[in-house]
Amino acid sequence: MTALPQRLFGTNGVRFVPGVSHDLDFAISLAEAVGTYFGSGEVLLGRDGRLSGPALANAVASGLLSSGRDVAEAGLVPTPALQYAVKALGFRGGVMVTASHNPPQYNGLKVSGPDGVEIPRLDEQRIEKIYFDKSQTKADWKSVGVARQEGSVVRAYQRGILSKVDAKAIAARKFTIVMDLGNGAQTVAAPYIAESLGCKVITLNSTVDGSFPGRGPEPTPDTMKDLSAAVKASGADLGVAYDGDGDRSMFCDEEGRVLWGDQSGCLIADFVLDRHPGGTLVTSVASSQAVEAVAKKHGARVLRTKVGAVEIARTIIERNAVFGFEENGGCLYQPHIAVRDGGMTTALMLECLARKGMAMSKVLSFVVPKYFQAKTKVEVNPKKVDAVMKAVEKQTKGDVERVDGLKLWTGAHSWALVRPSGTEPIVRIFAESDTQEDAEQLVNRFAKVVKSAAA
Ligand code: MG
Repeated sequence: MTALPQRLFGTNGVRFVPGVSHDLDFAISLAEAVGTYFGSGEVLLGRDGRLSGPALANAVASGLLSSGRDVAEAGLVPTPALQYAVKALGFRGGVMVTASHNPPQYNGLKVSGPDGVEIPRLDEQRIEKIYFDKSQTKADWKSVGVARQEGSVVRAYQRGILSKVDAKAIAARKFTIVMDLGNGAQTVAAPYIAESLGCKVITLNSTVDGSFPGRGPEPTPDTMKDLSAAVKASGADLGVAYDGDGDRSMFCDEEGRVLWGDQSGCLIADFVLDRHPGGTLVTSVASSQAVEAVAKKHGARVLRTKVGAVEIARTIIERNAVFGFEENGGCLYQPHIAVRDGGMTTALMLECLARKGMAMSKVLSFVVPKYFQAKTKVEVNPKKVDAVMKAVEKQTKGDVERVDGLKLWTGAHSWALVRPSGTEPIVRIFAESDTQEDAEQLVNRFAKVVKSAAA
C-alpha cells in the first residue's frame, strides 16, 4: 500500500486554529512555499475580520517577503474583492487570510493565481511539496521582497461589479434591501454597492468583529431569523446574508422566507441564461435537480463537479461556462470573475428582480421547480471514514454516482449524497425529494447508518 501524500489544502484553502493546531512559524514557512511557487512578481495580500487575522497576515507577509516576493497589503477586504483586484490590477497572485464560514477560532490561507481564481489542485500539491521538502527560496538581504500598502482594492471591486449590471434599471425600482453582514468582511463593500444601485439599505450586524457575536460566520436558514424578521418589519423587497469573508450570499424574499442556495442560484442562472442562451452552467453533485430543469428551458448544458468552489471555478474556466453556483449560496459569474462573490451575486439578484418586475417570491415560484431538501452532518473520526462509506454503499439498490462521495438515487426525484468533509472531521449528508418528509427521512436513514458505522 502506498502512503497517501501529505496534505495541507482542504476543500477550500488551508485551514487551521492559530496558536492551537499550528503556530505562526507554520504560517511563515507556508507563505515562503507559496512565494517560492509564484517565483516572481508582486503578491496581493488581504485578510478577513478574524481576531487572528492581523497576526497571521503579518506572518504571511514575512514569509512571502522572505521568499523574495514583493507584497501589496490590502488589509481587511472581502475575499472576492481581493480576487477581483488580483486580476483587474495585474498582480502575480493573491493570498487571502481567511477561514470563510468556519467558527471564530479557525483561520487559514486561500491562494489565487494571476486570474484571481483559486489555484488548481495540482498547484496546491506543488506548494505542499515545496513545504514538506523544505525547498523554500530564502532570499538574502538584497533580494528580499518589498512591502507596500494597496488602498484601491475595494474601490476596484465595487467599480467592477457596477459595470456588469444595468445600474439604471435597478435604480429605477428603488429597492429596499436588508443586509445581514454577519460581522464579516462584506461590511466594507456590499452596502455601498447596493447604495450605488439606488437601493435603500438597512444593515444588521454591521460591525466587523472576529468573534462573530451576531449570528456567527455562516448564514443558514437557522441563523437568518433576525434578517427575516427585519425584512418583514421594514417591508423590504429582499434580504441578504453573507458569510465571514463575503464570498457566499443567502437570500430571503419579501415575506422573510429564506431561499436555499440552490433556489437563489437557479433564479440567477435563469436570468443569466436569458442573456447567454445555450451557455453552460456548472454546479456540484450536491445541488438540486432543479438546475437541470432551468437549464433545459434555455437549451443550456449543466456540468456537475466535486463539491468545492475550486472545482466549480476551474471547470467554468476550462469549459468556458457563463455561471456556476453551490448549494451553500456561493455564485460564480464568469463575465466578472470565476470566483464565488457575494457582492456580484447581490447585484445580479437585484437586476434579476428589476427585469422581472415581480416580487422575489413570485419570480421564484415561476422559475424554479419545487423540490425539498434536508441536510445534516455527523462527526466521524477520519480513521473511520472508509468503513463508514462502505457501510453506506451496502445500503444501495438504485443508481450511484461517484463524482464526490456517494450520491444514491432512491427514486426518480429522490437522492441522498453522503460525503466526507474536506475541512472538518465530519461526514455531510444531503437529500432531495418531492416532499420535505421524504427528504428528512432520507437524511435520517443515512445519518443512522453513518453513526452506527462510526461508533
Ligand atoms: Mg466564504
